Amino acid sequence: MGITKNRVDQDEDGPEEEHVTKIYYCSRTHSQLAQFVHEVQRSPFGKDTRLVSLGSRQNLCINEDVKTLGSAQLINDRCMEMQRSKHEKSRAEEEKPKRRKQERRATCPFYGYEQLQLLRDQVLVGVKDIEQLVALGKEARACPYYGSRSAIPAAQLVVLPYQMLLHAATRQAAGIRLQGQVVLIDEAHNLIDTLTGIHSAEVSGSQLCQAHSQLLQYMERYGKRLKAKNLMYIKQILYLLEKFVTVLGGNTKQNPNTQSLSQTGTELKTINDFLFESQIDNINLFKVQRYCERSMVSRKLFGFTERYGTVLAPSREQPKLAGFQHFLQSLQPTVTQTSVTPVEEGEARVPRLASPLMHIESFLAALTTANQDGRVILSRQGSLSQSSLKFLLLNPAVHFAQVVKECRAVVIAGGTMQPVSDFREQLLACAGVEAERVVEFSCGHVIPPDNILPLVICSGPSSQQLEFTYQKRELPQMMDETGRILCNLCTVVPGGVVCFFPSYEYQRQVYAHWDKSGLLARLAVKKKIFQEPKRANQVEQVLMEYSRCIKVRNNSEASGPENRGQLPVSCVASKLWLHNLGWYFPQCCGQAGGTVTGALLLSVVGGKMSEGINFSDNLGRCVVMVGMPYPNIKSPELQEKMAYLDQTLPRGPGQPPPGKALVENLCMKAVNQSIGRAIRHQKDFASIVLLDQRYARPPILGKLPAWIRDRVEVKATFGPAFAAMRKVGPAFSSPTPRELPTPEVSCLTAFPCRLSFIVRSLSLPDGRPTIAWVPGSSFPLPT
Ligand code: SF4
Repeated sequence: MGITKNRVDQDEDGPEEEHVTKIYYCSRTHSQLAQFVHEVQRSPFGKDTRLVSLGSRQNLCINEDVKTLGSAQLINDRCMEMQRSKHEKSRAEEEKPKRRKQERRATCPFYGYEQLQLLRDQVLVGVKDIEQLVALGKEARACPYYGSRSAIPAAQLVVLPYQMLLHAATRQAAGIRLQGQVVLIDEAHNLIDTLTGIHSAEVSGSQLCQAHSQLLQYMERYGKRLKAKNLMYIKQILYLLEKFVTVLGGNTKQNPNTQSLSQTGTELKTINDFLFESQIDNINLFKVQRYCERSMVSRKLFGFTERYGTVLAPSREQPKLAGFQHFLQSLQPTVTQTSVTPVEEGEARVPRLASPLMHIESFLAALTTANQDGRVILSRQGSLSQSSLKFLLLNPAVHFAQVVKECRAVVIAGGTMQPVSDFREQLLACAGVEAERVVEFSCGHVIPPDNILPLVICSGPSSQQLEFTYQKRELPQMMDETGRILCNLCTVVPGGVVCFFPSYEYQRQVYAHWDKSGLLARLAVKKKIFQEPKRANQVEQVLMEYSRCIKVRNNSEASGPENRGQLPVSCVASKLWLHNLGWYFPQCCGQAGGTVTGALLLSVVGGKMSEGINFSDNLGRCVVMVGMPYPNIKSPELQEKMAYLDQTLPRGPGQPPPGKALVENLCMKAVNQSIGRAIRHQKDFASIVLLDQRYARPPILGKLPAWIRDRVEVKATFGPAFAAMRKVGPAFSSPTPRELPTPEVSCLTAFPCRLSFIVRSLSLPDGRPTIAWVPGSSFPLPT
C-alpha cells in the first residue's frame, strides 16, 4: 500500500506495492508489544530486521488539535474528515454557506506526500517502538500513523495489537495482507475470548432511540438532496431501529429514560428467530451493511449532529427541530449541555460521544452471521434505556478461518496455555484445520524442579474436608478452616503470600467472617493484609504498598534485629491512606517486635491481579488458591455456549460432553493464570497451594501446566502438607540477591525461543503446518 497524492486510507484500490514475506507478531496490550520490540532491539536480529510497529491514531497522532479530542472514535473521524477536506478542497470551496467552507478547508499539516515518503523510509531503518515512532514523526513533521502503515509492504516483522489482526475489516483498512505470511499470536491464552469479544456487539435502548432520532433529523434536512437509493436505505435503517425498540417493548417516540417496560428479564434467541420476531426478516441486512460501510452514514450523522446539535439549540428558534433537539438533549446531557453555543475555531473542545449509529452498525453486521454460529440476547430491564440487545458469537472459528487459510503458518503462543484442547477443538478444528496440520509443542520451565512446591491440600488442620462448592463454601467451618490454613502458612512462608478467591463476593464474605471471628487479627500478627481494590485505578497504589511492606521487612531482616519494631514513615502514611479507602489494616510491617514477616494479598481469580502482574521473588513466595473458580453455570450465555458445543463437537471416548469440558477448562485456565503469577524467572522459587480436594482428581491434575503437574504432591491431611512447607521454609527464606521490584506487567522472557520458532516457520514452504505452540521458556536460541 503506497501513499499516493490523491488517496486517503478508506480509498485503497490503487496498485498495490508488493509485500515481502513477513511475520505479523501480535499481542494483547501496547506495553507487551513494546517489550517485544525492545527484545528485538537487544537480540542479534535487531540490527538487520525491518520492523514496523502499528498502533491506532489515538497512539500515533501528532496533531495536538486532533489528539485532544480524547476518544479514539473522535480522533479517527476528525482525521478522516481532514483527509477528505484535503482531497475535496475544490468542491468544498464552491459550497455555501461560508462557515462550512471554512471548516472543510482544515487539513492536517502532517499528511504531506513527500514528508510521509521520507518518514516511511526512516521507519524501516532501525527497530522502533510506538514512542520512538511518535518522536520520529514529530521531528520529521510527518504523521507516524500513516507513515508506519505505508511501511508494511517492505517490513519483515510487523508488530500490532490483536484487534488489528483478528478483525477482517480492520485488517483490510490497515493494509495487512496475510497471504503466505507467518502470524504469531502471543499471550494467546485468551484468544477465544478475544475473538468472541471483538465480534460480539451490544446496543442499548438509549442508543437505539438516539440513533433513530438523529437519523430522522438527518433525513428531514437532507431528504430532498439524497439519491432515491440512499433515501431508501436510510428509511430501512429507521425501520430496523423502530423494530429493535419495539421488540424490547419500547417506543421510539418517547424518552427511553422514562419508558418503563411491562416485561422484564433475559431472553435468548437464534438469529433467525430474532429476525422473525422483530419483523425484519424481509430486509436484506447484507445490503444495509454494505450501504453503511460505503456511505459512511454513521460518520456523516455524527458530523451532522455535531454541527446542528449546536446551531439548532432551542433558544435559536427552530420550531420544527426544537422538539427533536429537546429530545436529543434528554438523551445526551453531556453533549448538549456543553454545546449551547457554536464551537469556535481554536476553542477547547470537550470530548463527545461517538455516533450511536456506529454501535448499531456493528450489531447489524453481527446479525449477518450464520444462524447456528450466534445468538441474540434480549435483556429487558426496568426502563428502555437500561435494556439492550446483545449479539453473542458462539463460534469464533468463523472469524479465525480466514487467518489460518491464508497464512503460511500460525503460531499460537503463551506461557500458560493449558488446557489446550479448547484451541484445538473450538478454534482450529472448527476453522477447518485438519488435525495433522497442527503441531503442539510444550517445553518445561526454566526453573530447577526444586524451586517449586505445588501442593493439593484435601483437608485442613481440624480435619475439615476442603471442597468449596457453592453449597458448602459459605459454611462457617469452611471459612474458619481456610483462615487456619492461611495462619499456618503465613507462619512458615516469608515475604509475600498471594491468596486467590473464586469471586469478589466470596472474598468479601470470608474477610467479614474472619474479622468477626478474630482470625483477621491473628493473621495480621504474621502479615500485613491487603485486599484487591475494587477500582482499577487503585491497583497500582495497593501493589506499591504491598511491595514496599515486603521490602521494608526484607531490609529490616538484612540489617539486624535492632531495626525491627520501628515504624517506617511510609507505613504510617500508607496506613492512613488505606484506612481512607475503607480497609482494615490493624498492624504495620516491621511493627510488634518483628512478628510480621511480610504481607498477605487477598485477590480474586480473574480480577485485576490475576493476570499481567508479576509476583516475583519475595513478592510471591506462596500462592494459595481457595476452591475451584468455576464460571457461573446458570448464566444464559454459558448455557447456550455449552449446548452449542455439545451439538457441534464430537465427544471422545471416556471424555465428558464438550460443554462440560468447556466449564472445566475455563476454570483451570483461570487457575493456571493465577498460580503462574509467582514463578517469573530462572532463580525464582515459590510454593503453590491448591485448597480443594477436587484438584486431586486426575482429569483436573491433567489440566495443570506440565512443569507444575509433574511436581504436584497431593496431601490428604494437613499435617504432611505443613511439614512439606516447613521443610522448604529455610530455603524459601534465603535473602534474594536482587533488588525487589514493584509488581509489573509480565515480560516476554521467552522471546528468543519464540523468535527461533518463527524463523523456522518462515522457512516452511506454503501449505505446511499451522502451528499451535505452547511454550515454556527454556528453548535454546537458534543457531
Ligand atoms: S494525519 Fe496523522 S497527525 Fe494528522 S490528524 Fe490524522 S493521525 Fe493525526
